[in-house]
Amino acid sequence: MKVGIPKEIKNNESRVGMTPAGVFELVHKNHKVYVQSGAGEGSGFSDDDYKQVGAIILDTIGQVYSISEMIVKVKEPIKEEYGLIQKGQVIFTYFHFASSEPLTKAMIEREAICIAYETVEDEEGTLPLLTPMSEVAGRMAIQQGAKYLEKPKKGRGVLLGGVPGVPPGRVLVLGAGIVGIQAAKMAAGLGAHVTILDINMKRLRYVNDVMPSHVVTEFSNEYNIRKHVKTHDLIVGGVLVKGAKAPNLITKDMLKTMHPGAVIVDVAVDQGGCVETTRPTTHEDPIYIIDDVVHYSVANMPGAVPYTSTVALTNVTLPYVLALANKGWRKACAEDESLRKGLNIVEGEVIYKEIIEAFGWDA
Ligand code: NAD
Repeated sequence: MKVGIPKEIKNNESRVGMTPAGVFELVHKNHKVYVQSGAGEGSGFSDDDYKQVGAIILDTIGQVYSISEMIVKVKEPIKEEYGLIQKGQVIFTYFHFASSEPLTKAMIEREAICIAYETVEDEEGTLPLLTPMSEVAGRMAIQQGAKYLEKPKKGRGVLLGGVPGVPPGRVLVLGAGIVGIQAAKMAAGLGAHVTILDINMKRLRYVNDVMPSHVVTEFSNEYNIRKHVKTHDLIVGGVLVKGAKAPNLITKDMLKTMHPGAVIVDVAVDQGGCVETTRPTTHEDPIYIIDDVVHYSVANMPGAVPYTSTVALTNVTLPYVLALANKGWRKACAEDESLRKGLNIVEGEVIYKEIIEAFGWDA
């Protein structure tokens, strides 16, 4: 199959759909891989890196789209790309259709095969192509939190690990899912005292089993949250209620009870955030302050570490890319239920019913 890797053109997106290691695998299976010149630059991969593993470098995005039977990328196509997509072409990427009616209509019109990373689902009901981005964001939450706790960054001037004779910082993690566990692990590694809350006892039991004793679990309820916000320096929001807006676990009135200069990193911002005062920010302007509490709520945290994010993404997408390239999308999806769940729009027809529901269209 002819597989195309275009350069991402969405604002501030430095990730790329495939690493040279992924291209190497495809080429070894006798597929042709077309990489747009400069596509990997933002993630630290040069055209030469791709050439050495057998990719063919093309100058323009138009050339990549016009020659490829399948496009592998990262972000949903933006307006400038709509017209490049061809009838019957497989587009394998994050789409998040339910959040954009214009994108959905454009993909219907182009009659492409849109397979969305975010709806590929394994037997346990987890989303394997979203997991690595949550892992990146969870770990990054502590790096960012530690940075904004510094006085020159407007924080309260607390070093998370403490020093001999000075107690460590206190980190409160809301949600013991992927983001929460990765955040707790990083904070614990720095020596911080960590409290992690969830409503799922299975998750709390797991955390209790695998984490060191300075990571303490507690059930998530308003009483406990009110108690803990008063004494913690850094709060990480990693709550998710599938298919719903995140619940506002930290309300505006709680901010006044927090230490001045405390930091909230609300990773759940893409689902509305689990803090009432959360609004999305960008890497250019990541924080704002309300009631002396620093809020960090960047909606695409993994975009700041494109090398790590690109490698992590290719690790999980590659088996699916290989199946699609080796068998063609019909056979690959017929044989693999997880991949079939990724099918959102097929040759002009929306087959993922949540999209139809999201826009209130007639089924
Ligand atoms: P997950 O499903 O693995 O974990 C969510 C956890 O929240 C679950 O353990 C669940 O039991 C828990 N939860 C639900 N209600 C709760 C409550 N009231 N109190 C405490 N815990 C509660 O999800 P995840 O992969 O960790 O993702 C978390 C959020 O981070 C999602 O909204 C995701 O979209 C977002 N995210 C954001 C970025 C970013 O760049 N900002 C990147 C990746 C993920």
